[in-house]
Amino acid sequence: KALVSTPSDLSSSAETTPAAPKNLRHEVNRRRTFAVISHPDAGKSTLTEALALHARKISEAGAIHGKAGRKSTVSDWMEMEKARGISVSSTALQFEYDDHTINLVDTPGHADFSEDTYRVLTAVDAAVMLIDAAKGLEPQTLKLFQVCRHRGIPVITVINKWDRPGRTPLELLDEIDERIGLTPTPMFWPVGIAGDFRGLLDVAKHEYIHFTRTAGGATIAPEEYLDADAAAAREGDEWTTALEESELLVESGQHHDVDAFLAGRTSPVIFASAMLNFGVHQILDALVSFAPAPGPRPDVAGGARDVTDPFSAVVFKVQAGMDTAHRDRLAFMRVVSGVFERGMVVTHAQTGKPFATKYALTVFGRERTTVENAYPGDVVGLVNATALAPGHTLYAERKVEFPPIPSFAPEHFSILRAESAAKYKQFRRAVDQMDSEGVVQILRNDLRGDASPVLAAVGPMQFEVVAARMKSEFGVEARMEPLGYSLARRTDAESADELNRQRGIEVFTRSDGVLLALVSDKWRLQYIEKELPHLTLEPLVAAA
Ligand code: GDP
Repeated sequence: KALVSTPSDLSSSAETTPAAPKNLRHEVNRRRTFAVISHPDAGKSTLTEALALHARKISEAGAIHGKAGRKSTVSDWMEMEKARGISVSSTALQFEYDDHTINLVDTPGHADFSEDTYRVLTAVDAAVMLIDAAKGLEPQTLKLFQVCRHRGIPVITVINKWDRPGRTPLELLDEIDERIGLTPTPMFWPVGIAGDFRGLLDVAKHEYIHFTRTAGGATIAPEEYLDADAAAAREGDEWTTALEESELLVESGQHHDVDAFLAGRTSPVIFASAMLNFGVHQILDALVSFAPAPGPRPDVAGGARDVTDPFSAVVFKVQAGMDTAHRDRLAFMRVVSGVFERGMVVTHAQTGKPFATKYALTVFGRERTTVENAYPGDVVGLVNATALAPGHTLYAERKVEFPPIPSFAPEHFSILRAESAAKYKQFRRAVDQMDSEGVVQILRNDLRGDASPVLAAVGPMQFEVVAARMKSEFGVEARMEPLGYSLARRTDAESADELNRQRGIEVFTRSDGVLLALVSDKWRLQYIEKELPHLTLEPLVAAA
């Protein structure tokens, strides 16, 4: 009831924010913005398609795998993705479900792009942790979960591929509890062992949802709702087992509690088969009923921007060269407050310069659609936004700046050299561009000079992205030579000289001014820490 605006809301909000329609609060409350975190192959793409099948789509789901893609948008980028079978781009799918607008923000699957995934997770309010029933928690899932925990993002757990042989439900839940200290609370429990997925027990309602397979899961699986007696009569022991197992957990205190979930202490669990489309709309129901709507975002001044404040947004991803025909560069922003209207002129907080938003798009896979309006929680792609980088703020009317996104501790280092000195200017421009987009970190020191900066990355594939883009966008051939360092520590000017005199260590200045000491290996680091304890060597935000 409180969500519906009254005429008085209209006049009061109109005074403070002229652009805000009367229904801003309503639009915010009916939005859910989330990402799926998983290890490659757990079924993220399959789940995305299955989710979209349940939703009244705004963007086309077929675009995910490029079925509806135009030929002209096939870029080198896409070629690289195809060749490697990985998803490098990260964009958002928006759809309507049960009177809610759902934004599913895509995360790159490959571990080398974990820094990009980290940035994506700064743009969501909840996460679905997708686990393969036969494999349990895998390394990439663990990493991403730690990011969610660090950022206070509540997590819904989905155990996928229940149609295939796998572990037992209790084993899987124990693993989550023991390894990451997250208390799983059964919400939709499987009836039938892994490989014999008959349906789900709705733990709260004691109701049975029986599924019927459709060919290849291409359509929504028909559901039949039965009460406990009818379920027992139909499924016999399988039903009793499901009931006993879930009750065992609930009685030992593993029951859903909204506050504990929002605080990141518990995680509701849904068993599913993305491929057969079993248990999929239950994920959407869970998101709609208890994942948080967009809320206020802390700013650098120690305050917070409320969702009903004038427009503001945070850039979380920059993607270039997606369209070979146009060589464009897209900056993706998440709306934080107010209403975005295409064409409005906003301010780029980092430069204080105006930024025109004439070309605003939603992008998913190869599909691009013009956006006219967007609300907090929505993701908008801005075309040719050269000045924008991840972590930047855009705002209208009242100034705000959001905290920068911390960069990960790099573990791979390469010297970058231009093949031809004649193209030094382009080389320089290209390096600056990669730097400002946060594709890699750029390190320099006097010893090596400007002509051969050092690239620092979380994963080596980031180097390939740099090389490919330098060639295609700037026409410069560049060579990379791996440097024999494997870790980085933050240091300071006082420590730099002495560190540089040590074997297996070299100090660089990162483009943001931070001094980084690169160290050959952890034994060297331990030795220096022990022998020269007065030197500053602080860990950076770890990728793991
Ligand atoms: P991603 O790497 O996480 O995006 O995983 P995909 O969605 O590409 O799925 C990886 C593989 O697992 C594909 O062969 C899918 O067909 C398969 N798969 C995904 N979900 C299910 C499922 O629920 N059941 C079964 N049996 N296979 C699945």
